[in-house]
Amino acid sequence: MSNSDVAKCPKNSLPEYAFIGRSNVGKSSLINMLMQRKNLAKTSGRPGKTQLINHFIINKNWYLVDLPGYGYARVSKSTKKVFQKFITQYFEKRQQLVLAFVLVDCRHEPQKIDLEFMEWMGESQIPFNIIFTKADKMKPNALSKNIEVYTEKMLETWEEMPTYFVTSSSKGNGREELLSYIDHLNEQLRQS
Ligand code: GDP
Repeated sequence: MSNSDVAKCPKNSLPEYAFIGRSNVGKSSLINMLMQRKNLAKTSGRPGKTQLINHFIINKNWYLVDLPGYGYARVSKSTKKVFQKFITQYFEKRQQLVLAFVLVDCRHEPQKIDLEFMEWMGESQIPFNIIFTKADKMKPNALSKNIEVYTEKMLETWEEMPTYFVTSSSKGNGREELLSYIDHLNEQLRQS
């Protein structure tokens, strides 16, 4: 189901997990890799990559939610929170949301827009984890170093580094880990 209005998102109460990040971070590739489908999520540059909230139902059990990339929304001091309104509304209103995964490209140093987005998530009390994407593009040592740098930057603002995952959509890294983590959370929710 695709929407730009949170009020029209699925009405049932299945737990959902949102994926969000800057355009080009590798979100569509990651979703396709997780689901082992070629074109479930539309990859960059494809026409029709519209600004919608996309709900994919997984095993009749949970929703994977593909949110629009926020790359084109400019965030500055004077215009804080210019992430598109329907995205912020989604986060503020969606009771079923268990957790958001904020995707960041593992090659880049911490980017202001991502840090500000995570700060906004924190202020809004929306739980999130981080996914470092495109791990195959870096050598292991350089990758570890980058994650260290990212952690240090996060610790300037946060008490602890959020849980994070490292993925590669071309190699499939992180798939099992991420999916079993989600299954585990779903199981905990069922028991609570
Ligand atoms: P989106 O805009 O966040 O949905 O990003 P896409 O999934 O369309 O990916 C942007 C570009 O990065 C595309 O050229 C992808 O092929 C490439 N890409 C995405 N994930 C990976 C990855 O894990 N490894 C490599 N090597 N390239 C990737």
